[in-house]
Amino acid sequence: MKLINYKWRQLILSLSCLLLIIGCTNLYPTSNQDIKLLKVATDPTFIPFEIQTASGKLEGFDIDLMNALAKVVGFAIQFESLPFDGMISTLEAKRVDAAISGITITAERLKTIAFSRPYFKAGLAIAVRENNHNIKNFNTLQGKKIAVQIGSTGADFAKTIPNAKISTFNSGPEFFQDLLNGNVDAVVSDAFATLYAIKNGKLKGIKVVADLLTQEYYGIATPKDSPHLKKINKAIASMLSNGTYKQIYQKWFNAEPPQLPES
Ligand code: GLN
Repeated sequence: MKLINYKWRQLILSLSCLLLIIGCTNLYPTSNQDIKLLKVATDPTFIPFEIQTASGKLEGFDIDLMNALAKVVGFAIQFESLPFDGMISTLEAKRVDAAISGITITAERLKTIAFSRPYFKAGLAIAVRENNHNIKNFNTLQGKKIAVQIGSTGADFAKTIPNAKISTFNSGPEFFQDLLNGNVDAVVSDAFATLYAIKNGKLKGIKVVADLLTQEYYGIATPKDSPHLKKINKAIASMLSNGTYKQIYQKWFNAEPPQLPES
């Protein structure tokens, strides 16, 4: 009887020790406090990459990608809506941990912030009214009235067009109205967003000129020396190889995704 008691005591003691070790080494599923909350800026006027629904919900290619990435890495995401023009300075000031907003990786931006590996192949396009047959390429933009979004790669590009008269707008959709009204001759902006709006019937009377002006890649932007960048890059790589990226791409663009470079 004494022997049994002793064995029981030993068993209970060992079990308690085991539970204590498990508790200390945190082998249990991560508790809410352990999940890193990542503040991510986005400008929900860049459709279909970021969209704000009537009820205030965020949707879009970038939003799906960021949410899928958060699951891979084990981050919780808190999106913060910001105008595109203020995004780079907000990252420089480290007021957010990251930004996803169809942000093109450029040498100029890399001077002050960091980018993940490219997650989307994009490019600038010229949009004109459907009845315009004169503007066909870079050369035919010379001396024309052109609308662009402040702080965008489209705005940088427009500065290189000789004698162009440039009007700047805060958000993408506004300049199309000016194009339709006849106030400007062309818009220089990201091809995918324009093509998406035309295809979905949101933009009537506008067409995109066949040739893209540039080839660009979007990256997830972070402050320089971000402690999260490595994990973000690993997660993009795993989503590219396990089919998650392809599934999100097909959902929004109904097409096969192109190959992306590693850097
Ligand atoms: N890709 C463009 C840029 O980075 C525009 C992005 C946007 O308007 N959200 O400048």
